[in-house]
Amino acid sequence: MSDHHIVFIPAAPHYLPTEQQVSSAKAALWQWIPEAEAIEAAVTEYVQFHDCGSNFEYVRCHVCGQELTIPQWHLLMEQDYDLERGFGLTPQTLPCCGNVASVNQLDYSFMQGFSRFSLTAINPRTGAVSAQQTELLQRQLDHPLLVIYCHV
Ligand SMILES: [Zn+2]
Repeated sequence: MSDHHIVFIPAAPHYLPTEQQVSSAKAALWQWIPEAEAIEAAVTEYVQFHDCGSNFEYVRCHVCGQELTIPQWHLLMEQDYDLERGFGLTPQTLPCCGNVASVNQLDYSFMQGFSRFSLTAINPRTGAVSAQQTELLQRQLDHPLLVIYCHV
């Protein structure tokens, strides 16, 4: 059986909402997707990568638009990752055009991202959240969000 998650993360990887903000965001999510298996908020000590699983289509350079090969992207990810402090999101030279950027700046399809905080609806039994719902969550968490649809 496959799992489907909707993961909300802050656009700024180090942003952490308050507990009160998180509980009102969770309450809103439960209203919209009452059949979810669970709604979980998590904070990690270091920046983690939140992937989209088998929804992954491509990763592109945000500057020149060229698609990176998987080995090129994995190398950038490996060079950025440290076992002791997670992802540093350090600017690196990109193989496509020589511009300098962090792995967090690349264009991912489906959306993927990096953060310490995440709010996940596990098996929500709904296709997607609406733009209005995302906007409301952003107000509750007082921060722009990325919405990641993860299929595993
Ligand atoms: Zn490029």
